[in-house]
Amino acid sequence: YSLFSTLPEAPPDEPFSVNGAYKKDCSPHKVNLGIGVYRTSEGSPWPLRVVEEAEKQIHEASDINRHEYTAIQGDPEFLNLAADLVFGFGEKEGSAVSVAEQERKRVVSIQTVSGTGANRLGAELLARNVRPRCVWIPDPTWANHYAIWELAGVPHKSYPYYDASRKAFDFEGTFRTLAESANEKDVVILHACAHNPTGADPTEEQWKMLARLCKDKGIIPFFDLAYQGFASGDAKKDAWAIRHFFHELELVEFCVAQSFSKNFGLYGQRVGALHIALTSTATEVVSEKVFSNLCHLVRGEYSMAPRGGAEIVKTVLSNNKLRKKWQEDLTTMSQRIQKMRHALFNELSKLNTPGEWTHVINQIGMFTYIGLTESQVKVMTEKHHIYMLKSGRISISGLNEHNVRYVAMAIDDVVR
Ligand code: PMP
Repeated sequence: YSLFSTLPEAPPDEPFSVNGAYKKDCSPHKVNLGIGVYRTSEGSPWPLRVVEEAEKQIHEASDINRHEYTAIQGDPEFLNLAADLVFGFGEKEGSAVSVAEQERKRVVSIQTVSGTGANRLGAELLARNVRPRCVWIPDPTWANHYAIWELAGVPHKSYPYYDASRKAFDFEGTFRTLAESANEKDVVILHACAHNPTGADPTEEQWKMLARLCKDKGIIPFFDLAYQGFASGDAKKDAWAIRHFFHELELVEFCVAQSFSKNFGLYGQRVGALHIALTSTATEVVSEKVFSNLCHLVRGEYSMAPRGGAEIVKTVLSNNKLRKKWQEDLTTMSQRIQKMRHALFNELSKLNTPGEWTHVINQIGMFTYIGLTESQVKVMTEKHHIYMLKSGRISISGLNEHNVRYVAMAIDDVVR
């Protein structure tokens, strides 16, 4: 007998299951294109050089407070720097000095257990206080969005994000669905850049139209920002959509779930922040209320987010020399990914593999929807020992000079 014997089976998490299966495979040819983590051209993890330098500085400073509690909201200095990185306060052309301060006041920030924690906390805040009738989730999306919003008790509906025939973002389908069916105070999940799993993003013009749509219909945008700087190599460029919504829609409130897992390579350290952008007319009383409610939720869940990783990010972002090094590391990572996209495309072209493969170089970020069916993926794994999600999502960072030809040959084999 057990109290828990009637528990339902909980669904396994696909990327972590695929990773487990990869580890068990003894084939010398095996390739892991499943999990979304950066790997070097030798297939190894890569602690960013700037992170190693910041860690050294922190260690040498030997601050006796380094293991103390921070505060429920986390480290205020880290939060200021994190919010600045997202919104670029006062950076808009022609801004007066005082503009930065006004803009900063529109954003309420709290430290979270990485991007997942930020998504979860934002969902909980909205579910409890705004009570949206539904959340619109892109189809496809990062699978955890479903779990997060289910746990928050908000029903979800899907909007058609991907046009499989064009292998690109389905702007018409997205716009039409939201315009016809979304209601005021519904939430819409938007991947701020480098959409996971497709690697297909809206253009600036399309973002502008989506922003106007959210404003006209009173839809609440919820940005998931997991790849800022990692996607294009330029943190400002990757935040373009969020900054557009912030500046153009001063009367629309929205959430940003920010992760430092990929852009600082701090996966296991769990560093992130949730930002709530308020209207330019919201009073300080409102801002205080949002802040205290977020603190209440965090206090009851886990008291406060961990400080170690946030200390590293703070050390880097507050020092111009280290910021420059971080930029170099972002360039290293994003360029290697870009190079591997081209290498895969070139190998497929050389093999004359049936089909159109330009999406491999047009898509951006860690992932590509390669365009294989579930049964083709099964053959990739069982016959060729190449691991990926059954949707055909591959993590480009698992490719390197040594395995890209083998992967292209396997793709060629399964599509012929
Ligand atoms: N959102 C998206 C779209 C992601 O791809 C990820 C990372 N896989 C996350 C959020 C959150 O990751 P983390 O909790 O490690 O920050």
